Amino acid sequence: MEYLSTRDKTLRKSAAQAIVMGLSRDGGLFTPVGFPSLSALEVETLCGMPYRKRAAYIMGKFLEDFRPEELNQFTKNAYGPEKFDSPAVAPLRKMDGNTWCLELWHGPTSAFKDMALQMLPQLLSASLRMTGEKKTACILVATSGDTGKAAMEGFAGVEQTKILVFYPENGVSEIQKLQMVTQEGGNVGVCAVKGNFDDAQNGVKRIFSDEAMREELARRGYFLSSANSINWGRILPQVVYYISAYCDLLSAKEIKLGEPVNFCVPTGNFGNILACYYAKRMGLPVKKLICASNRNDVLTDFIRTGVYDRNRPFYTTMSPSMDILISSNLERLLFDLSGGRDELVRSCMEQLAETGRYEITAGMKRRLQEVFFGGFCGEEETASSIEMLHRYGYLIDTHTAVAARVLTDYRKETGDRTPAVFVSTASPYKFCDSVLSAIGETPAADSVDRIAQMEALTGVTAPSRLAALKGKEVRFHDVTGKERMEERVLAFLQ
Ligand SMILES: *Cc1c(COP(=O)(O)O)cnc(C)c1O
Repeated sequence: MEYLSTRDKTLRKSAAQAIVMGLSRDGGLFTPVGFPSLSALEVETLCGMPYRKRAAYIMGKFLEDFRPEELNQFTKNAYGPEKFDSPAVAPLRKMDGNTWCLELWHGPTSAFKDMALQMLPQLLSASLRMTGEKKTACILVATSGDTGKAAMEGFAGVEQTKILVFYPENGVSEIQKLQMVTQEGGNVGVCAVKGNFDDAQNGVKRIFSDEAMREELARRGYFLSSANSINWGRILPQVVYYISAYCDLLSAKEIKLGEPVNFCVPTGNFGNILACYYAKRMGLPVKKLICASNRNDVLTDFIRTGVYDRNRPFYTTMSPSMDILISSNLERLLFDLSGGRDELVRSCMEQLAETGRYEITAGMKRRLQEVFFGGFCGEEETASSIEMLHRYGYLIDTHTAVAARVLTDYRKETGDRTPAVFVSTASPYKFCDSVLSAIGETPAADSVDRIAQMEALTGVTAPSRLAALKGKEVRFHDVTGKERMEERVLAFLQ
């Protein structure tokens, strides 16, 4: 399987090259030239396998140049019991007769980013070997909170890599910040940016496209790569859990083979929901993809009108990983919806950079609305969604709460009662402050003490690594202006 750039489809790379490069030189995103199909028989076969085998099988369809034994070893390393505290890896929890919750936060950093970022370092190491690359990969990450920690946890100590994370100074939760600034490992660095997530992400993109920077780093023996969801090695492992969830529903006899289901995904950079779209393109019986946003509702408007317009206020919300106005991965969807028209994608992205706005064609809009439903919810609705499910006996985080709420809204608006799965992207213990307030409690003064407070109140055990944050040494204190991120990179790669 080859990969092409969304902005120039004559530019083709192997999977290994695409993973090593992260982003195409022309600014486009690497996308598979086609989608391998998944037959009903294959779905049945996958039902009998544990998660890691399902993952190796599904990823193998896109990574033909990797050997099956190799992929089996990678998924064993990534999803083993040392890393994930659930043997199912991505367990499904039944909420009612036709609603399930897919828990994606059983990995080492308690957010769904682990599903991909435990896998990416292994794919990248193998890709470095396959391409004969001798320079050290410097992974630059812009994070809205969860990616940074999960990427460092995945890359810490991995040979031939260094990783530098930029996060918005006031845009992440206290627990998220603590998780990052206490990260161990000789090859990691963390720096706060004075600005929001888009500022940090734009800074990273700017550095990537800086020719002089690239030459200077090459002279020092480095090249830049990405662990953000622009990297194909991030999207691919995420395709797996949608197929796996379908298998679990089938195995539990909740649905029949071939019966359609809906997925509702809390969305920021559009990576997670894009993976679901790709699973559907492979043939998984998914009827509707429900795209759930918080008060930053740029995607809701896009899906409803076909106009993407980032010229609007930016809100800092209690679901910070979704506080995004430029969803990078939408570019891959545009490419597919347009039937592979790279010139059209290029033009949309140019308009987005220049005016902050673009409009898709009527045909694309029709295809978009056939598959996607867009909804959003505000802060009050997010809190009441947590409170409601808590009363029912299930504790969820703020991002998951947005998805649960938007799924309810979707059903009310459309009357569609198709079996539905809403995706749970973080442990509630990553956002104790907001969760405690939502269930009517006053959060303890110290952010780490809130973990024990919430455990005592709810009887739900906190992930052990979050509880262990108490008293951990803070290793990183750096803060930088958004225009000065280049200097931090050069200092990090002395
Ligand atoms: C990253 C993240 C999201 C958004 O995922 P995208 O792939 O960026 O759409 C949602 N919830 C949580 C907890 C996250 O960490």
